Amino acid sequence: MNTYVKLTREGDVAVITIENPPVNALSPGVPEEIIEAVNAAVKDEAVRTIVMIGGGKTFIAGADIREFGKIGNAQKVLLSLLPFLHVIEDSPKPIVMAIHGAAFGGGLETAMAGHYRVIASSAQVGQPEVKLGLIPGMGGTQRLPRLAGVPKAVEMCAFGEPVAAGEALKSGIVDRIIEGNLLEGAIAFAREVAAAPIPKTRLRNGKLADVNREIFARAHEEATKMRRLQHAPHSAIDAVEAATTLPFEDGCQRERDLFVECLASTESKALIHVFFGERTVAKIPGLPKDAQAIDIKRAAIIGAGRMGGGIAMTYANAGIPVLLKEVAQDVLDRGMNTIRGNYANTVKKGRLSQQQMDQRLSLITPQLTYDGFGDAGIIVEAVFESMSVKKSVFTEMTKVANSECLLATNTSTLDIDEIASVTGRPESVIGTHFFSPANVMRLLEVVRGTATSDRVIATAMTLGKRLGKVAVLARNGFGFIGNRMIVPYMREAHFLLEEGASVEQVNNALYEFGMPMGPLAMDDLAGIDIIYHVRQESKHLESPGMRRPLVPDLLFEMGRYGQKTGKGWSRYDEQRRPQPDAEVASLIKKTALDAGIKQHEISGSEITERCLYALINDGAKVLDEGIALRAADIDIVYVYGYGFPAWRGGPMFYADTIGLKNICDRIEEFQSEHGAELWKPAPLLKSLAASGGTFDEWDRRHAPQV
Ligand code: NAD
Repeated sequence: MNTYVKLTREGDVAVITIENPPVNALSPGVPEEIIEAVNAAVKDEAVRTIVMIGGGKTFIAGADIREFGKIGNAQKVLLSLLPFLHVIEDSPKPIVMAIHGAAFGGGLETAMAGHYRVIASSAQVGQPEVKLGLIPGMGGTQRLPRLAGVPKAVEMCAFGEPVAAGEALKSGIVDRIIEGNLLEGAIAFAREVAAAPIPKTRLRNGKLADVNREIFARAHEEATKMRRLQHAPHSAIDAVEAATTLPFEDGCQRERDLFVECLASTESKALIHVFFGERTVAKIPGLPKDAQAIDIKRAAIIGAGRMGGGIAMTYANAGIPVLLKEVAQDVLDRGMNTIRGNYANTVKKGRLSQQQMDQRLSLITPQLTYDGFGDAGIIVEAVFESMSVKKSVFTEMTKVANSECLLATNTSTLDIDEIASVTGRPESVIGTHFFSPANVMRLLEVVRGTATSDRVIATAMTLGKRLGKVAVLARNGFGFIGNRMIVPYMREAHFLLEEGASVEQVNNALYEFGMPMGPLAMDDLAGIDIIYHVRQESKHLESPGMRRPLVPDLLFEMGRYGQKTGKGWSRYDEQRRPQPDAEVASLIKKTALDAGIKQHEISGSEITERCLYALINDGAKVLDEGIALRAADIDIVYVYGYGFPAWRGGPMFYADTIGLKNICDRIEEFQSEHGAELWKPAPLLKSLAASGGTFDEWDRRHAPQV
């Protein structure tokens, strides 16, 4: 009795249905049963042609990534899959692959080994392996150019984006789009081709002739730009190029060698970690199953500034009507104009239709009063980062909110419990901390206060997903996960300047590491004034006598707020391109001299180590204190909220790859050079380093896995 594959017959057409929910992945056992079914259909004299289709919502969506996750296994898995494709392609009876849902990765590779492909109009195909730091490993880079042509194959394998049915037909990946019942259409198609000679993809060399070799050089250039510092896109391009220079079997061998190299890379381990991490963060240990989320039908936002406007767009984008309140008409108009402008830009880029824009705008109601707030399922406060302002807003919103309503704050750093203290119903209060720009950034930090109810937590997490965000749960504490850990990272960047590194050197070192921008460029983008005000609000948390950076306050006093004033750490031209500024260089020098700080040459590696190890050390404390549930949660916060390179896996995964003992030893060196308190190794880091442990292992021991 077969478990995953069903073989039935519709007259002279055998139908092989793959039943491995939820996505019909090629898990162990599935290919073997497909082979059995193909052999049985070939033997059956009543059968002239074969249709292969996925049960449920999709074709084979890909290889089983869980199997890939066990890295040692992947090569074995792959090798076991190769003969399976040969059985399909060498079948003496034509096999028609019927694609609905998605045929990604191993799914598309399987489909391409078939003799024909038909597709539902809503389905997609793709080779997304590169997003996991891999390349196709089952002949995808060799068969795809033979079907779709070299430029399309390069694009699909190197960048991994999905291709819709219409484009798949146009480029030759599929032979027909089926409107209506896919199986019926596939059977009809199979009967049409029953008597035709059987085309084998691996023998179709027509599209490989006369390839313009510049395609590869251009693709490498683009990959260098778009997937900065990543290796896999280049391997994918090389593998497709091999299809144009080598016979099919040798090309497959070249693909396999490149695949194995990618599989062994830290890049793929890191990207697979992020892939699973994104799923892990949704699991909240300890949250009872009956903590049912409330279905949010309407939302209301207070404050139409930088964040409030973006948050309103996020709700509207998810189809949730939202009221947007401001204090004065001109501020409200400015906020709405920004929203309109943002949507209009997206329309101009062709990523949104005018009709969609109008529809989304119609979901946002600008107003100066609390009218209608009583109907909202959630009220989100997005006013200035000041405890007294937030308290007065929360006092007002509690009066107008219904008893089920979530009272949410977008605060980046402030104490959720203190905010909740003015409401009389702290169980309803929660942080929903969006990142800027809120309508673009994928991260949502959900912050639970001491009294926040399970139901409110469950609602915020579910809502986050509905809003298209990756929601990570944090506990209350200054800056939660992300903004708390960024403080030591920035502190080191500032100290390094005072010790002799230049602004450009510090920015470049972290940019070269893979961050989207250096720390000082980040200051200039976020606003030196905003960070100054956060510092003022949290002054009571500073340890007295601890060394702190001196120059940021001076920049604030000089009105050098960053990009918005045309100058901050750097000077900005009209296109907001940074230029070195001699005024800042001499200000730093003089400040260091006055404070008795000796300046000296500083290497790029010292810059990255000091910034990143300070971040990691604090991450270990965040974990130990229970602010983050898992190290993977910290990684997801940093990848999606701060642009930490996903191919390095996030700061904690990166730490594991360096070795926690190496990091701890270096931190102890910094401790002796720069201050016992500032560089005190986190106890968790120290104990893991001593036992040869990793953060990944810690996660597995302390928190349930997906
Ligand atoms: P902002 O100054 O751009 O906007 C705040 C808006 O709130 C202003 O337009 C102000 O008029 C309005 N406001 C003040 N009191 C009000 C009231 N009683 N009723 C209605 N409106 C009122 O500030 P922002 O950058 O949008 O920040 C808002 C919150 O989001 C802060 O808590 C901030 O820390 C947090 N945050 C900011 C960022 C960022 O990058 N800017 C990122 C994440 C979180």
